[in-house]
Amino acid sequence: MPNNSDINSKIMENIIALCKRRGFVYPSSEIYGGFSATYDYGPYGVELLKNIKDNWWNFMVRHRSDVLGLDTAIFMNPKVWEASGHTTHFTDPLMDCKNCKARVRADKLVEEALRTTKKDFKTVDFSSKTAVRQAIDDLMVACPQCGKKDWTEIRDFNTLFETYQGVVKGQQDIIYLRGEIAQGMFVQYKNILNSTRARIPFGIAQSGKAFRNEVTVQRFIFRTREFNLAEIEYFVKPKEAPEKLEFWKKTLFDWHTKNLGVAENHLHWREQTPDERAHYSNGTFDLEYQFPWGFDEVGAVANRTDYDLKNHQEKSGVNLTYTDPVTQENYLPFVIEPTFGLDRTFLEILCDAYQEETTANGQRTVLKLHKNIAPIQLAVFPLLRNKPDLVSLAQKIFAQLKEKFVCEFDDNGNVGKRYRRQDEIGTPYCLTVDFDSLTDQTVTVRDRDTMQQTRMAVSQLEDFFNKQFI
Ligand SMILES: [Zn+2]
Repeated sequence: MPNNSDINSKIMENIIALCKRRGFVYPSSEIYGGFSATYDYGPYGVELLKNIKDNWWNFMVRHRSDVLGLDTAIFMNPKVWEASGHTTHFTDPLMDCKNCKARVRADKLVEEALRTTKKDFKTVDFSSKTAVRQAIDDLMVACPQCGKKDWTEIRDFNTLFETYQGVVKGQQDIIYLRGEIAQGMFVQYKNILNSTRARIPFGIAQSGKAFRNEVTVQRFIFRTREFNLAEIEYFVKPKEAPEKLEFWKKTLFDWHTKNLGVAENHLHWREQTPDERAHYSNGTFDLEYQFPWGFDEVGAVANRTDYDLKNHQEKSGVNLTYTDPVTQENYLPFVIEPTFGLDRTFLEILCDAYQEETTANGQRTVLKLHKNIAPIQLAVFPLLRNKPDLVSLAQKIFAQLKEKFVCEFDDNGNVGKRYRRQDEIGTPYCLTVDFDSLTDQTVTVRDRDTMQQTRMAVSQLEDFFNKQFI
């Protein structure tokens, strides 16, 4: 009997294989042997990623009156990263295996050991390098590569990516690839206040790439060095911070379950211990999803206090306080940050939607994606590709529907094979034009989840699908 962890790693392997087979995610630079922990989104992956991002933007920005959008550059004045503390505090505890020279992140290895032995994270003191090193010994953590337990001491490793600007390489030209997207929002906060009618409480939202020179990269697109983030910096009166933090926890959870269709019992909140928290936070809650390897972080809500604005005010010499237009009260706002990794959320959605089922016609693999984020909404088939009448009616219906919906036309192989393919892409509906269609102007509409087929008049299709997709 295979044990649970074998089954779970088999599921991950199958999901990764499906991603490549069906054009969701490819290994980067594959013809050159790939590139460590770097992936590219294929035709269906890019649609799914865009749908997640658009859904977030509509829900969190367009449907609210207190959140404004922003898109800042990846390159910033290096002083930003000095003020934010990233050049000094943005470090990972690095440790080497003396036997095989594997380089690992000590804290992640400890977390992993706690997860497998089902021990509470609170049983370990993460506050210092010495304490984490002690935990490595106490938990008898072995090298994941060679199995030996012969570790070096832990040292700090800064994960900001450095690069150079200009034609002459030199110390003065060092710039950084942004380690987080939040700083762009902090340094534009004053411009937004001055150029819009924003009043506290209000938020700034942006999504984009961030870069971290991670020591440990693993689990497909879960932890990579280049990744997509989506977050809001929500500026509040300091005393209202706890209440707003709760509000955003609820909002983020609802978005994952209601808009992305992730099962509620596969998600939970975990409060980070003070030792785990980032240097800027005085309270962080991780939203964790039950991945095949266990609960792991997909998003978080943090109370960043006035840490960032205070540091930027000090280092830039620009007054960043806010004056309430009614009470004239003057203060530095606190910031509540609901954030999530888009790539992780993409993987969360795939894991939650992925199912292997036994049906009357044998095994099938299906992605039961929420209808509103599925990369393809409808697929249109002629029953046979060598019957011009069927093909021409199917093409006519396809041309009409694709004005309104994301559609695909498929006349390859038999209908059964086309269903299997659309099931694996997660297409909610398939329409088949058959010989009856030529006389009575009806088609078969097949539901992905129930596999039930219903006859429907061509004239009613648009109305019907308008109701299925919001
Ligand atoms: Zn080793």
